[in-house]
Amino acid sequence: MATRFFPNYDNYIITSPFGPRKLWGQTGTHNGIDLVATKDGKTGRTDQITAHTGGTVEKVGYDDNSGNFVRIQVDKQTLMVYCHLRDKPTVKKGDTVAAGQPIGYMGKTGRVTGAHLHFGIRQDGRWIDPEPYLDTDYIQPGKTYDLKLPQLERGSRGDSVKALQILLAGLGHSPGTADGIFGGRTLAGVKGFQKDRGLACDGIVGPKTWEALLGS
Ligand SMILES: [Zn+2]
Repeated sequence: MATRFFPNYDNYIITSPFGPRKLWGQTGTHNGIDLVATKDGKTGRTDQITAHTGGTVEKVGYDDNSGNFVRIQVDKQTLMVYCHLRDKPTVKKGDTVAAGQPIGYMGKTGRVTGAHLHFGIRQDGRWIDPEPYLDTDYIQPGKTYDLKLPQLERGSRGDSVKALQILLAGLGHSPGTADGIFGGRTLAGVKGFQKDRGLACDGIVGPKTWEALLGS
């Protein structure tokens, strides 16, 4: 299974779930979940972390609890946070981040018992349990989404790729399953669609290809 956080590993485990917990001799509420990467049953300790969902970097920083952290504003209501990164995040405030884009490395900075990723979702000012969203696209029922249209190419991943795949399938250029991963079949689908529409047949989904996809 591919993971949304640790691209070089084949899975992750949740070492601490969301909700009440006792730590450091105090009872408190864990406002996110803790994850570590695993491969072949072994734990990876310093893997690269990628963004679960795309958005705009709202803040990067360091504090004694969170260690190195990055916060990504996903939509008006929703902020996602990634904490305890090994070094300063590899993105900076104001950057646009796509789902699956590297943002830093797992570490143990801040108040931790070991290397892990703390992932949190804050929605309308409240922390919610991220677990239901771990292996699915983040979709908030009943709310309207501003669809971001990043340039997509082979190797791209995430919600925007899934949107692309669904559009292609609907236009008769099926890319296989809409799995959010831009692989060979998606590439063939894009090229077929571009050829059909008289666009440059480069397999890269830029503004013109998006326009053609959405305007059809
Ligand atoms: Zn945590």
